[in-house]
Amino acid sequence: MENYNLPEDIEKARERIDELRQSIRHHNYKYYVEDNPEITDYEYDKLFEELKALEEEFPELITENSPTQRIGSEKIEAFETVEHKAKMLSLDKSHSEQGLRDFDKRIRKRLHNSQIEYIIEPKIDGLGIALYYEDKTLLRGATRGNGAKGEDITANLKTIMTIPLKISTETSLTTFEVRGEIYMPVDAFQELNNSRIDKGMEPFANPRNAASGTVRHKDPKEVAERPLDIFIYALSYNEEQKFKTHLETLKELKKAGFKVNEYEKAEGISAVIHKINQWEHKKERLNYEIDGIVIKVNDLTSHDILGSTTHHPRWAIAYKYPPNRKTTRISDIEIMVGRTGKLTPVAILEPIHLAGTKVSRASLHNEDEIKKLDVRIGDEVLVEKAGKIIPQIIKVIKEKRQGDEKKFEMPHKCPVCGSAAKRFNGEVARKCINAQCPAQIKQRIQHWGERNAMNIDGLGPKLLEKLVDNNMVRHFADLYKLKTSDLQKIERMGEKSSENLLKEIEKSKQEGLARVLYGLGIPYVGEHIARILTENFHTIDKLMETSEIRLKQINEIGPEIAQSVVSFFKEEKNRELIEQLKKEGVKMESKEYQREQFLEGIYFVFTGALDKYTRNEASEEVRKFGGRVSSSVSKKTDIIVRGKNPGSKLEKAKEEGITILNEEQFIQLLEDKKMPSQV
Ligand SMILES: [Zn+2]
Repeated sequence: MENYNLPEDIEKARERIDELRQSIRHHNYKYYVEDNPEITDYEYDKLFEELKALEEEFPELITENSPTQRIGSEKIEAFETVEHKAKMLSLDKSHSEQGLRDFDKRIRKRLHNSQIEYIIEPKIDGLGIALYYEDKTLLRGATRGNGAKGEDITANLKTIMTIPLKISTETSLTTFEVRGEIYMPVDAFQELNNSRIDKGMEPFANPRNAASGTVRHKDPKEVAERPLDIFIYALSYNEEQKFKTHLETLKELKKAGFKVNEYEKAEGISAVIHKINQWEHKKERLNYEIDGIVIKVNDLTSHDILGSTTHHPRWAIAYKYPPNRKTTRISDIEIMVGRTGKLTPVAILEPIHLAGTKVSRASLHNEDEIKKLDVRIGDEVLVEKAGKIIPQIIKVIKEKRQGDEKKFEMPHKCPVCGSAAKRFNGEVARKCINAQCPAQIKQRIQHWGERNAMNIDGLGPKLLEKLVDNNMVRHFADLYKLKTSDLQKIERMGEKSSENLLKEIEKSKQEGLARVLYGLGIPYVGEHIARILTENFHTIDKLMETSEIRLKQINEIGPEIAQSVVSFFKEEKNRELIEQLKKEGVKMESKEYQREQFLEGIYFVFTGALDKYTRNEASEEVRKFGGRVSSSVSKKTDIIVRGKNPGSKLEKAKEEGITILNEEQFIQLLEDKKMPSQV
């Protein structure tokens, strides 16, 4: 724990706590909502740690909405039912251009207006919720429920970093209710599913199911591990100011610190339709699923005039895009062996074009899924591809069966190495039990070289096939021992491409700890968790020494991850592997750490009094950046910092030719985080 010079006086503590909370809120917004951080993670951590230290010292100053209180430790017994401030109606839907023109016609007639100004927003395929704030502070968050009443899921919603626990002072909003849509980003969804598959759990069918399953989970700690996000799209209740337009409201919500999605103004329904067509292409590139576009009348007085039916408001409509679905035939079912030994059945399809890509394979996940769908080789099936999600088989078209379709049985032996493939207690997956199975080795090494891991371009499956089959590579560390001559032994590997690959492998040594941790393929440790571990430990040595208890104290790290990490590093084979990788020069520290530790191995001596620091504070600064401080000058001393009335040490330093810095230069050094060139 660092030394923060904690105030002893409670009033001073209160002041500093307020300051810190405000600053953390601001930086949260910059980081999570705007994706545009102003400070480094390290600097952010320091603010957070100081706040935690102060709150520990003065527990009476902890409030429920302090940034330190996002993740509750208590499990939820049952969700209470709460009433919404305003009824949550659903939206009227249309699947066609004509439906939209009819909607517009009804509105124009009712408002006696020839052209209506609309606001269009993407319709997130997520979960509707309401957030209620009093005195700018989050009081409650609830599911939509039946529209009038929903379930209180505040504890879970608080773990979502883009939901402000306290809103900005810059807005007039004080006591109000907002509506939003909870969703899981597509990449996070895929990561979650991969780790569930690794654990032998059933993957979620789509991001929407993953989000709704998560938000109603009984353990906030588990919720915090799954990266949910939210877009706020409406102000449903407000005690203060009335706004004139929907646009104005959205701007105000943004100002308050909410994450508001892109929106566009459109004059008249033809402009709306034009934009909807543009969005149909745009949506494929988003990292979240949208299933349509919401169209709202901009003028809020018109909302009152138009009113609502019992089901939906008359001033809004949702246009739904047609789902990307097609039928095709399953020509075969193949088995893939993954890096954990899991056998995955994959349907080989007669190729079709869906959502802009050619689809010729679809995962069937596991034997339970095959049974559930009752899928057979030769069946005609309905395939759906949503956004970036891998294609899914929705259902079998049984009416089209000819009678010659073949039932599929999962093999009880690994199709690659012939070892037994077993289904362990409670797991849906069948696994090859041979850890040396070539298929597993190939997959593990391929994962290590993946773009999001060590980013080794050119390490494709075909090459790996040869490297592993020729016994040239049995593990990651072997990659770093490869020579051009080794590679050239492999068929069709020329000098140029061999050199390029070796360059890539060499370059990967510098990728840093987060990518190493992800690349190692520790169960439950996806990219996100790897980053969190890196931010908290900075070096693999520190992570390897840690305990489950310490890990569980970290936001977003639950018991399963903690256990998995600790047991991975306990395993002798894994420790050996880390040693070998280190020996080969693979960097096992965070990049931040490498930058922050710019004084590593540098010995300091202080003499005389400094103006801005006590001796202890100055020493602490040096140590923080990896430097060392000794009390007397010796051969080891690199730098002497002179203050007022320096002692005899200065003379000795001059004799020894040691670099001398005055206080100003010392401060400059700490600010630049770079050794001065003359040193
Ligand atoms: Zn095998």
